[in-house]
Amino acid sequence: MRYRAKKFFAVVKNLIFVPTCASCGERLSPIPEKGNMTYDKVCFCKSCAEKWEMAKTEMCPACFNVSGKCTCTPDFFFKYQPEIPSICFYHPDSQDVQSKAIISMKRRCDTELFEFMAIDLYPRLNSTLVKMGISGEDCIFTWVPRKASSINESGFDQGKQLSDSLAKLFKAKSYPIFLRIGGKEQKKLDKTGRRANAKRSIKLNSSLSGFPLWIKEKNIEEFLGGKNVVIIDDVLTSGSTLRQAVELAKSAKAKNTVVACIAKTYLKGDK
Ligand SMILES: [Zn+2]
Ligand SMILES: [Zn+2]
Repeated sequence: MRYRAKKFFAVVKNLIFVPTCASCGERLSPIPEKGNMTYDKVCFCKSCAEKWEMAKTEMCPACFNVSGKCTCTPDFFFKYQPEIPSICFYHPDSQDVQSKAIISMKRRCDTELFEFMAIDLYPRLNSTLVKMGISGEDCIFTWVPRKASSINESGFDQGKQLSDSLAKLFKAKSYPIFLRIGGKEQKKLDKTGRRANAKRSIKLNSSLSGFPLWIKEKNIEEFLGGKNVVIIDDVLTSGSTLRQAVELAKSAKAKNTVVACIAKTYLKGDK
């Protein structure tokens, strides 16, 4: 009965906001059908859903691992975690299903799509946490914040949406640990430029702005001290900003830090 009620509301919602495929933009049936429904979410058309499943099995041409096990990511992270959990590889400027889905995440605040991504990332992130002897429930979830101008343009921060959705799956909480302070767009810079720019782009949310009132701690150090922090980003390119986030969390005495992303770019030779 609960399922039928849920499905009924989904259909009503879909009749008002007709869902479209997150990859090809094709209009989807408002009545969820078998085949274009994965984990109860309607995000892709049938053909794109199949391509998405294929993308998850793509191997890195350098280390022959799937993205979540790819060891070509910057060495810095391996001091703290055995691998960087992720769902698939990202090929900038390509027209493949994952690149288009990631663009959709940036452009439309589609709760179903964020939940879908969180469900796909969940088992990979959980497996990393288990290896580290951490329970997801004991983690604080957070994200690398976008620039204010990008948030103003789209009206939301996809990092926050992903962090909130994942936290919910782990029965944990998601908080704004970092604040954006500026910096240029990373993709326009070289490796050294990216590192320097990352340092100027985020800082700790020292005064806990945007935190619920029931949190008694006075500052971020009190809040993070001894805690496990999961930092989510949509795409890992050079990892400079995520690295900065880890260093900031560590400076506030976080116990463990784990970074996870939806997609990774091939990085061999760019450590
Ligand atoms: Zn499609
Ligand atoms: Zn690799």
